[in-house]
Amino acid sequence: MYDIIIVGAGPAGLTAALYALRANKKVLVLEAKNYGGQIVNANKIENYPGILEISGFDYATNLYNQVKNLGAELKYETVIRIERDKAVFTNQNQYYGKAIILATGAENRKLEIENENKYIGKGISYCATCDGNFYRNKIVAVVGGGNTALEDAIYLSKIASKIYVIHRRDSFRGENKYLEEIKKEENIEFLLNSTIHKVNGDDFLTSLDVIDNQGNIKNIKVDGLFVAVGQMPKNEIFQNILELDQYGYILSNDGVHTNIPGIYVAGDARVKKLRQLVTAVSDGAIAATTAIQEME
Ligand code: NAP
Repeated sequence: MYDIIIVGAGPAGLTAALYALRANKKVLVLEAKNYGGQIVNANKIENYPGILEISGFDYATNLYNQVKNLGAELKYETVIRIERDKAVFTNQNQYYGKAIILATGAENRKLEIENENKYIGKGISYCATCDGNFYRNKIVAVVGGGNTALEDAIYLSKIASKIYVIHRRDSFRGENKYLEEIKKEENIEFLLNSTIHKVNGDDFLTSLDVIDNQGNIKNIKVDGLFVAVGQMPKNEIFQNILELDQYGYILSNDGVHTNIPGIYVAGDARVKKLRQLVTAVSDGAIAATTAIQEME
């Protein structure tokens, strides 16, 4: 029996472990892949308060070591089911906790085109607020037509010299208020009814082949491509007992409790406004301290 079982070893989950271990709780962290979550893909982190610059990998490794030094038990097993009585089933074992913290994160949806993985961190990014600053006075493209893509284009218009917005249709899923704002920005150009056919470069991305729905291919020089085609939470396995929103994020009235007492949520897995490192670690700390208070 563990005091707290944490599902997910990204920044939210590891921070929850840090706080729980420092309170002398018996903690198990379960992770399906590698520790660190999405942040390990960040080339540089420059927006974490108090840290001038650090790579995502170094940040995640520091956090992992901090937790390991406190004696964390971390097992690389895939959680396949949780139950109301705080039983956690993995592909290998079954565990029980007094509390469970779900920190399963979300994955950025990929374009699934050739060489996309090759240029991640070398021109391709999935987070404008994280990486936009690396493209100061450079040419970038944003792909997508939702609120994220529109917001990203507006954000980047203050940083980059030129922004292409590439969208597969000629109408937008994103809100009109963002479109109105975009129209005021002279450095944003729309390439509509278009998708990315190919990404080109050597070590770094240098251009995109964009194909329109007539089959015409246009090569545009870019230094960066921001992919904003949606995110995918990974909460399907919890939907039998937990309330999720229409996109699959875990609902929480106060950002920490789920609909089941003793099961908490932290980080990108939950419904929230800002999915960033700083909000993920904040969630982890709050989830752990709340779980501890409520089990005593
Ligand atoms: P989204 O609303 O699901 O939009 C994804 C966009 O990507 C859509 O325009 C979609 O095109 C396009 N797309 C999907 N797969 C693609 C592919 N393989 N190739 C090219 N284009 C593709 O995702 P989101 O913008 O990340 O927003 C997610 C949710 O968060 C939404 O509810 C959004 O309103 C919300 N959000 C809110 C705010 C805010 O309120 N400030 C900010 C950001 C996000 P189609 O339209 O053709 O399907």
